[in-house]
Amino acid sequence: MKEEILKLIKLQEIDSEIAGFDNIIAKQQALIASRENAIVEKQEAITVFRGKIELLDQKQRETKAEHDDAGIRVKDRQNKMMQVQTSREHQALLKEIEENKRLLKETDDRVLLFIEQIEQLEQEVATLENLCLGEQQLLKEAIETVEKEIKRIEVSKKSVVSQREKEALVIQAPYLKRYMMLLNKREGIAVVAINDNVCQGCYMGLPPQQVIEIRKADKFNTCPTCQRILYFKEQEDEAVGK
Ligand SMILES: [Zn+2]
Repeated sequence: MKEEILKLIKLQEIDSEIAGFDNIIAKQQALIASRENAIVEKQEAITVFRGKIELLDQKQRETKAEHDDAGIRVKDRQNKMMQVQTSREHQALLKEIEENKRLLKETDDRVLLFIEQIEQLEQEVATLENLCLGEQQLLKEAIETVEKEIKRIEVSKKSVVSQREKEALVIQAPYLKRYMMLLNKREGIAVVAINDNVCQGCYMGLPPQQVIEIRKADKFNTCPTCQRILYFKEQEDEAVGK
């Protein structure tokens, strides 16, 4: 039985190494994804700003038309002034001219305000576009580096995976099956050492009688809490030939 446990300890060591490779690859890919995401967020902000600019530009043009109309009315009423007969007509025209002059000033202010807001947004768009360009360039370089790194890791992983296949072949099927089940259910750790009578998988204490049995290793001992297969540290040294 001890032999079988030693084989499983070895297999666990290899599987943890493979998981380590996968973990590094996943982290690198996540880093790239988060950088891509940051660029997409900026691009989305640019789209929102552009929409706002379009809206303000529309309002600006409408206000400008209002302004021009008021200007035309001022000129028209001023011309009419020369032909008025009564003081009532004169007063009415003066009032209209005043109102339209006020409108001229007011629309002028509004147009200026719109232009100011548009300029501000265009500035923000330009800043974001610049940032995007820079980030895209850096990202392109980072992707190249990561792809090279992943290829390098894949090569190392491949040799470990082929070693794993050989090691798994010599393990009796029911044990291997149990090991695989635990590996899947217990975050990639199926076989763990105990330390100070504590399972290093779930960190729960073990009954003293069981600790004695684990040291003997003449049967499979599993943690009563997490069901992982347990062993003594000295057995690991023996398994991996330290
Ligand atoms: Zn446990």
